[in-house]
Amino acid sequence: MGEPVKPVYSVVVPCYNEEDCIRETHSRLSAVMRGMGEGYEILYINDASRDRTPQLLDELAAGDPAVRVIHFARNAGHQLAVSAGLDHASGSAVVIIDADLQDPPELIPEMARLWREGAEVVYGMRRSREGEKWFKKATASAYYRLLRRLAGNAFPEDTGDFRLADRRVVDVVRNMPEHARYLRGMFAWAGFRQVPLLYDRAPRFAGETHYPLKKMLRLAANGVLSFSEKPLLWPLWSGLVWLLAGFAVLIALAVLLLLGRDVSGLVMPLILCLASGSLLFSLGVLGAYLARVYEEVKGRPLYVVASTRGFGAPGPELPPGTRRRA
Ligand code: UDP
Ligand code: MG
Repeated sequence: MGEPVKPVYSVVVPCYNEEDCIRETHSRLSAVMRGMGEGYEILYINDASRDRTPQLLDELAAGDPAVRVIHFARNAGHQLAVSAGLDHASGSAVVIIDADLQDPPELIPEMARLWREGAEVVYGMRRSREGEKWFKKATASAYYRLLRRLAGNAFPEDTGDFRLADRRVVDVVRNMPEHARYLRGMFAWAGFRQVPLLYDRAPRFAGETHYPLKKMLRLAANGVLSFSEKPLLWPLWSGLVWLLAGFAVLIALAVLLLLGRDVSGLVMPLILCLASGSLLFSLGVLGAYLARVYEEVKGRPLYVVASTRGFGAPGPELPPGTRRRA
C-alpha cells in the first residue's frame, strides 16, 4: 500500500467544553459530508476542554475512520485551535466550522459548489443572528464598520470564521507566522477569489458561549492591531492640529503686540498648544517607526502568487505564500 488517499474535504472543528453539542454536531456534519459523495476527514481540535468533550471525541474517532482528533495540552483559544486544524488538514478544500451548530453544516455542499465553480474562499456572511442579544449584534456591526475603515475594504462585514478555503489559500494563511492570529482577517489578506454565502446564524445548539466580553474584546483588538497601523499614526495628525493652533495663537499675539494691546491672556494658550502639539507630533513620529518595525516583525509573505505561466512543464514548485524572510 502506498500513501493513504488524500481527502477532498477537511472539516476543522474547534471544541472547548462542548459535551452537550459534540454528538449532534458530528451526526449532522457527517450526514452532510457523506451525502457529498467524496472523500472527507473531520478534524476535531479539543482546546483543553475540562468537561467530557475529550472522551466523546475519542469515542467518535474509534467509531469513524474519517475522524481525527487533536487534544491540546492547554487552552489556546478558538483561533489557535482552528490554526492547528489548518496545519493538520490534508484536503484540497478546508472547511472551518464551530462545534455548536451556529454555522449550519448543511451549507457546506453549497460552499463546495461555489468552490468547484472557481471560488477560492467561500465565506459565510451572516444575514441574521438568531438568539443573539441586541448588544452583541450592535457591537459586532459597529466593530466591522470600524475595522473596514481602519484596515481597508477587503475585510468583509458580518463574517466570522465559518468558511471553505482552497488548499492554496490555506497554505498562504499557514505561511503567515504571526502569533496574534485573526484568521478571518488573514484569509481576507491572502486575496484570491473570495465569495460570500449569505446565511442565517442559528442559536447555539446547547451550552453557553465561550466568548465572554473579555475574550471578544481581545479578538476585536487583534483585528485592528494586526491589520491597521492607523492608530499608531493618530498622534501625528492631532499633534499637527495642536501645532497649527499654536501658530495661529502666535500670529494673533504678534498682531496684538504690534497694536500695543495686552497679550498676557494669550501666553498660556500659546505654551499649551506648542507643548502638546510637539509632544503629540513626536509620539506620532515614533508611531510611524513602530509601525514599520511591526510590519517587519510580522514576517508576512511579501506577495502571494496565484499561478504561473511559461515556466515550462512541469514548472518549478513555487510555494504558495512565496518569499519569506530568510
Ligand atoms: N472555542 C475553542 N476554544 C476556546 C473558546 C471557544 O476552541 O477557548 C470553540 C468553541 O467550542 C466553538 C467555537 O470556538 O466551537 C466558537 O465559540 P463559541 O460558540 O463559544 O463563541 P460564539 O459563537 O458565542 O462567538
Ligand atoms: Mg458559538
